[in-house]
Amino acid sequence: MASNVKNYTEIRIKKANLTLWPPSTIVIRPSGLKTVNVQSKQDLSQMVKTKEIKVKTKGNCDVVNITEQVRDFVGRSGVREGAVTVFNVGSTGAITTTEYEPGLVNYDIAAAFERIAPRGAKYEHEETWHDDNGHSHVRASVLGPSLSVPVVDGKLMLGTWQQIILVDFDTRVRTRTVVIQIVY
Ligand code: ZN
Repeated sequence: MASNVKNYTEIRIKKANLTLWPPSTIVIRPSGLKTVNVQSKQDLSQMVKTKEIKVKTKGNCDVVNITEQVRDFVGRSGVREGAVTVFNVGSTGAITTTEYEPGLVNYDIAAAFERIAPRGAKYEHEETWHDDNGHSHVRASVLGPSLSVPVVDGKLMLGTWQQIILVDFDTRVRTRTVVIQIVY
């Protein structure tokens, strides 16, 4: 390492082997170290670009297409190769992809989650807080709060019939905060 570089920082990233044994237990075995050289903290911050957007939803399994907001941010960022994470803030909303067409977004997804975590079932969460959205939390946990999409040649690697969606499982109208973060 050149001695004239100021604020030299070294980051060590542990590599790990994942072994699935016994079933349901993940054993992580460090197998080596990779060294990344970064000249300053400024260099680190330039490897991440972040934007927050607000998304209005109707709740109750409302499916909102947010693909264009993500594509727009990636386009403006000028990033050619990297990954963009799309994350919903809050525990009753989720992010995934689907083909954004009326059958799936107005019926099928809601019907599937009604089978997985029915609205009318008993939820201990509602005993805790005396609210009505136990099913909303369970559904959001199952689907998950975030999605990562590769950026290649400045473009999102989405299929033609694959849109990025926010699914709001809460029982009321909400304004959601979604964080879009590009790492490159
Ligand atoms: Zn609740």
